[in-house]
Amino acid sequence: MALSAKAPGSYTVKSGDTLGAIAEKYDTTVGAILKANPQISNPNQISVGQQIKLPGASGGTGGASPQPSQPKPPPKKPPPKKPAPAKDKDDDKDSKAARKLVFPLWKKPTASWKDGPRYFGCPRSGGRKHGGVDLYAPFGSKIRAIADGVIIRPPYFFYDGTNALEVFHPGVGVVRYGEISSSKRVNVRAGQKVKCGEHIAYVGLLDSLGMSMIHFELFGERARGQALTQMSGPYRRHPALKNPTPLIDKLHRLTFK
Ligand SMILES: [Zn+2]
Repeated sequence: MALSAKAPGSYTVKSGDTLGAIAEKYDTTVGAILKANPQISNPNQISVGQQIKLPGASGGTGGASPQPSQPKPPPKKPPPKKPAPAKDKDDDKDSKAARKLVFPLWKKPTASWKDGPRYFGCPRSGGRKHGGVDLYAPFGSKIRAIADGVIIRPPYFFYDGTNALEVFHPGVGVVRYGEISSSKRVNVRAGQKVKCGEHIAYVGLLDSLGMSMIHFELFGERARGQALTQMSGPYRRHPALKNPTPLIDKLHRLTFK
């Protein structure tokens, strides 16, 4: 799609759009878009055909005052690639306990798990923080075990019409594969061993958002078998919750190099 030189005041949401992608396209941020569009209560919840006021445009009701146009900064250059450190303790540990690792999807996710509403720690409604990363993929895509492991809890109701599945992967931790399909299911039972790469679930569909993804959560081993969703703390999760971003980065690198 061609981007006109003059930024329009509003944008019509098209199929496949996310607020993150729109923000990037118009050189703004999701936060600024949300500020200019107080009608959007859930950043995940935008629909095709919806009009979104672009920050800085006049005539809206968002209360954001028009901003003077600023000279565009030069495009960011990626930082020079550093050679991989010779010794990485975590890698050593993983190579002992989990020799094989693979990305949970056969194809790359359709959006980065490090921006938009998808990243770990992203603010959610009610002051909660996002306790995992979201890997966008078409509804019904196969999900595989990222390493050898054992099923802790077979699929149970999770969120917005989707299920979750908990697997302990030695050397990695407890993984909750969240927002998996409740209609398309793989039969797994508690205590069952799974192999790295084994098909364990399908990507689910969030009923009210019409979106599909894996919501991927990672915990330390001590969370095994305990309630992962809790009422306290910014994440409302078991205190052994970890940021899964470095793991997902690594799986992606290993699988799609
Ligand atoms: Zn999520």
